[in-house]
Amino acid sequence: MKIIPHFFGVRKMEIVKTENLTFEYIRRDENDNVEGITTAVDNVSIDVKQGEFIAILGHNGSGKSTLAKHLNAILFPTEGTVWVNGLDTKDLDNLWTVRNTAGMVFQNPDNQIIGQIVEEDVGFGPENMGVPTKEIWERVEESLKVVGMYEYRKSSPNRLSGGQKQRVSIAGVLAMHPKCIVLDEPTAMLDPIGRKEVIDAVRGLNDVEKITIILITHNMDEIVHADRVFVMDKGHIEMEGTPREIFSQVERLKELRLCVPQVTEIAYELKKRGLPIPAGILTIDELTEALKKCR
Ligand code: ADP
Ligand code: MG
Repeated sequence: MKIIPHFFGVRKMEIVKTENLTFEYIRRDENDNVEGITTAVDNVSIDVKQGEFIAILGHNGSGKSTLAKHLNAILFPTEGTVWVNGLDTKDLDNLWTVRNTAGMVFQNPDNQIIGQIVEEDVGFGPENMGVPTKEIWERVEESLKVVGMYEYRKSSPNRLSGGQKQRVSIAGVLAMHPKCIVLDEPTAMLDPIGRKEVIDAVRGLNDVEKITIILITHNMDEIVHADRVFVMDKGHIEMEGTPREIFSQVERLKELRLCVPQVTEIAYELKKRGLPIPAGILTIDELTEALKKCR
């Protein structure tokens, strides 16, 4: 019976689905004997609907990147199944469709930019896909405008700041017209200005372009705008909820070695000391309002 909903297209609403996904890295010695096994993703089942903004949070080594690489068919499940837009990623016939449906942006923009000129770099993806030349240029222009980098189209990527380079990488993925973009700690190497530029661009992709976003981060401030948050630890999904639901559980987050935003922490401490402040405060404005009501 399980096959039937898939057959009738119920899964269509889900751009990404994993069912009991487990992935093991196997270390072998020079004689090919197994030396050790790391279970990096352990029995993870998630659903992401078309148009959602998902954040995946977790301490280093919790399995975020390993999970992300499954969504772009870079890795394949040891056990369980991953579907992207209803296609089983294990099926090699689906490989290119999966990779073009779910684009990936990585941490280091320097490893992702290959062109000598910004617009050339952004055009590489669609060119490799065999998009006609005229349409490539249209896509390059449109993608650079979306991330606010159009005026730099003739620049050399070497001359750009980290945040600008990362936005060019995002434009490069966008030019392939993916339904979903997976960003694996895209701000980890950036200064605060670069981080804000990138997060604002990502929000635009979701709000305006309606692209499904899966944003991996260990920076709590970046998850405030997500529709849903998954918190990973030791390969498991340990928490799932809206940002407010997640931020309401300060002690639990600390157990998972995650720092909550300063304003949430202050609100939490004030509440603990008896002030009538609601749980899960996300912004300074919310805290100010709550404090006014305390008077
Ligand atoms: P995160 O992205 O949350 O930091 P990763 O998915 O990179 O986590 O890693 C999850 C676990 O898998 C860690 O224990 C890590 O050491 C291990 N791991 C990651 N990549 C490899 C690899 N290429 N070979 C062996 N073990 C790996
Ligand atoms: Mg990682």
